[in-house]
Amino acid sequence: MKKCSNCGAVMSNKNFTCIECNSVLGDPVTNEEIQSSNEYSDYIDRALVRSDDFYVSVWDKIMSAISAFGTIFIIYSIVNNNGPDLFIGVISFILCIIYALFPKFIWSIEKLRIIAFRFSEEPEPSDFYLVMVKIIKNILFFIGCGYVVTAVVCMVA
Ligand SMILES: [Zn+2]
Repeated sequence: MKKCSNCGAVMSNKNFTCIECNSVLGDPVTNEEIQSSNEYSDYIDRALVRSDDFYVSVWDKIMSAISAFGTIFIIYSIVNNNGPDLFIGVISFILCIIYALFPKFIWSIEKLRIIAFRFSEEPEPSDFYLVMVKIIKNILFFIGCGYVVTAVVCMVA
């Protein structure tokens, strides 16, 4: 376990920066050291959730909320102005929401694929997989946002 000296958040050893405040983390600490500082004891419970590979961050939730509004806006724009040209934006946003809010569902699909090709019987998500998911959901989000901008430009023009 690592503990942030800035905000007191506790997270797994594989983090180099704090997931809460982005401060650079020092060396790992033992569970006893963490538990001895009672003032941060509530962080321990939250840390157990956060050290989970499928933790849904605040940014994931914000991104999903914006994606939901963006989806509605683009559909409105398609119905009123633009025809089906902007539909990729809707698909991007919906996929982004699934990636951001349901990481376990995305992993279960990937897991089936891994098992089907017999790469592994009991696969664990690799660091590469987790980074790719992070990149993919952000790309989908920005594609969706690009289509929102396009829709706005079409409406104004
Ligand atoms: Zn911190």
